[in-house]
Amino acid sequence: MIDYGWFRLIVRLVGVLVMIYFAPMLLMSIASLAINLPSYLSGAAGPEFSYIIFSILGAIIPPAAATAVGIYFTFNARGFIRWCMRDLANYCGACGYDIRTLTTNRCPECNNTITPPTSITPSSR
Ligand SMILES: [Zn+2]
Repeated sequence: MIDYGWFRLIVRLVGVLVMIYFAPMLLMSIASLAINLPSYLSGAAGPEFSYIIFSILGAIIPPAAATAVGIYFTFNARGFIRWCMRDLANYCGACGYDIRTLTTNRCPECNNTITPPTSITPSSR
């Protein structure tokens, strides 16, 4: 059993907050571009094609990326959580299995060789 439920809760909370903050920004940027696009394409507002490019690059991609991260943190984040936990001494570095009660140096979940941290290893003199 992997004991990182508290960390998953925090990651989900961060994901929800990121989505609440960036999703409206993304929708407003898309709406603004959609409203203004016809006048820019027709040339009524001047030959401002670069404005369209900068609108997409500057106003849509960053909030879209942040919203995607928020969605990932809220609904999945398994890979991210595993990545964060990989160096913790109590977990298998490959699969995140709780190795505190193991008596062997092999993970029963993924057969990864486990090397206990030297600082807390019982003395091997
Ligand atoms: Zn493992």
